Amino acid sequence: MPGKPQNQFTLQNPLTQYPHPPFPAQGQPAPGLDAHMQPKPDHGETTYTGFGRLVGRRALITGADSGIGRAVAIAFAREGADIALNYLPTEERDAREVVQLIETEGRKVVALPGDLKDPRFCSQLVDQAHEQLDGLDILVNVAGKQVARKDIGQITHEQFDHTLKTNVYALFWLCQAAVPLMPAGATIINTASIQSYQPSATLLDYATTKAAIVAFTKALAKQVIERGIRVNAVAPGPIWTVLQPSGGQPPEKIPDFGGHTPMKRPGQPAECAPLYVLLASQESSYITGEVFGVTGGNPLP
Ligand code: NAD
Ligand code: MG
Repeated sequence: MPGKPQNQFTLQNPLTQYPHPPFPAQGQPAPGLDAHMQPKPDHGETTYTGFGRLVGRRALITGADSGIGRAVAIAFAREGADIALNYLPTEERDAREVVQLIETEGRKVVALPGDLKDPRFCSQLVDQAHEQLDGLDILVNVAGKQVARKDIGQITHEQFDHTLKTNVYALFWLCQAAVPLMPAGATIINTASIQSYQPSATLLDYATTKAAIVAFTKALAKQVIERGIRVNAVAPGPIWTVLQPSGGQPPEKIPDFGGHTPMKRPGQPAECAPLYVLLASQESSYITGEVFGVTGGNPLP
């Protein structure tokens, strides 16, 4: 039996802290809803304790309705940040839950749904977040598209284009709009993947984008440190989110998802969030251009 999650400071055995495979077979159309996952992921709703590490910061988080983005939004709010959330309009149900959780913390929250494949939307999103939060100190790029295909011949030009637009072009458009608005001390955090370094045969287009995000992060970090802005990336391994049973993995891989890591289980979104908090806060003042794994024991190079 997995141990009962308490908070991120309680001493626990990480091997038994969260559910293990086998998981129930399941699937839903992309982008999917957290609300329909079995078992429910832990985004820190009852397990994340904040200590004011981001008091007064203003953060824009993409993909913030579900999965890793939701966990980051909850953690940032509990650390004292005001938050603008982006997600797709079809994800309103998940997003409403996040809005409520942030409001419960007494923080300001602005919901800005829209499609990041559109460059105009990306620049409007940054402008609106900046305006409605009265400034922008943190940009967290979490939104991502992942569609598993066994053969290169099955990847349509449209899929390739949408994966590249969502994961790479949007990152460029959002950072390009945000950098001029950000003060010294601001931070950008991107979401790479273990796929950046150890690509799966079934994730040709996705892994390509995740490798690009690593290079983008390092190059942008060298450029914008002149302005006092830091840029880092988080590279998760298998994390129990709706990305996977909504086409991110072949359906037959879901029951054993995460079972091949040294910890023999997938990570939970709540296990990623503390790293985003560290990278957003002044505690990481001498860290930029780095990529940090959250992989359950599969080392990054
Ligand atoms: P998720 O499905 O909960 O989050 C992905 C989010 O991306 C969606 O909620 C959606 O809001 C957003 N999105 C997708 N297309 C969009 C578009 N065109 N416009 C606006 N938003 C769009 O899944 P997650 O696992 O939390 O994914 C978050 C990030 O973590 C992604 O970048 C993913 O590549 C990365 N990641 C996930 C895993 C994993 O195993 N779950 C591993 C490594 C990296
Ligand atoms: Mg979602």
